[in-house]
Parts: sequence; C-alpha cells; structure tokens
Amino acid sequence: MNELVDIPKALRQSGLKATLPRLRILQLFHERETKHLSAEEIYRFLIDEKIDIGLATIYRVLMQFAETDIVIRRHFESGAAVFELNEGSHHDHLICTACSKVDEFVDSGIERRQEEIAKERGFALHEHSLSLYGVCGDCKSTKTATSRKSKSRDVMRTS
Ligand SMILES: [Zn+2]
Ligand SMILES: [Zn+2]
Repeated sequence: MNELVDIPKALRQSGLKATLPRLRILQLFHERETKHLSAEEIYRFLIDEKIDIGLATIYRVLMQFAETDIVIRRHFESGAAVFELNEGSHHDHLICTACSKVDEFVDSGIERRQEEIAKERGFALHEHSLSLYGVCGDCKSTKTATSRKSKSRDVMRTS
C-alpha cells in the first residue's frame, strides 16, 4: 500500500496550520506499519530520525488531531493512550497484555447483536467500543516454549 497522501492539505482541511511537528507526526501515521501509536512511541521514532520534538509537543499535537477528528484516541486498560488515524470505518480491538500489540476486527454478528440488545431495551445506541484483552499468538508461543523448557528442567532435578 503506497497511497500518496497530501499531508499539508489534510491539515489545512482540518483547520490546522501545517507546522513542522504536525506534518511530521501525521506523516508518521501514514508511514508506519503499526496503526496504533502512543505518544511515547512517536517520540522514540522521531528521536531515531534525529528529529527534536519534545514529548509535550507530541502530546499536544495528538490532542489537536483528536479534537479535529484526524485521529481517534483509544483508552485501552493496559498502558498509555494510543492514537490511530481516523479512517472513518468502525472496528473493534484485541489487545495483548504481554506485548501491548493491538489488532483489529469487525464481526457483523457481534455488531448486529449489540444493536438488537440496545433496541430490546429501548436504548438509543450512538456508538460502542469493544476491547478484548489477552495474549497474542506470538506471545503465547514464546510462553509455551519457556514453560516447556522449565518443565524439562524439573524432570532433570527429580531424576
Ligand atoms: Zn503479544
Ligand atoms: Zn484501531
């Protein structure tokens, strides 16, 4: 995926002046493979690129982006707030509590059931956020490998 996004134009359309920190941070969201980024992660990426933008500035820019609907701010229970580009389509999240990786999904069955539940209760549903917490496939296989190793150590000790 190599879509060319006119970042200065995107900023202007949101009524924000195209300052260097804003340009660079928005560009980062388009460049990175990771969709969900915390202020600290952005800070580290910029340091790697030898770009001197303080954490407070990054946070301020992210809040401006959230206010103007350029990004969505997510509050997952594990760790700091993360931000993702607002691409206009709804999705829910899977969060790994071991490595903080965030995955996305949309399930029409779950979506439909939530609407039905609200309707049954005469509840006017505006939005929802669904976050599933657990251990991702990568972390699960690392853990299994470690526990297997410690088990064989136990065997050696008892013999
Ligand atoms: Zn993980
Ligand atoms: Zn997301």
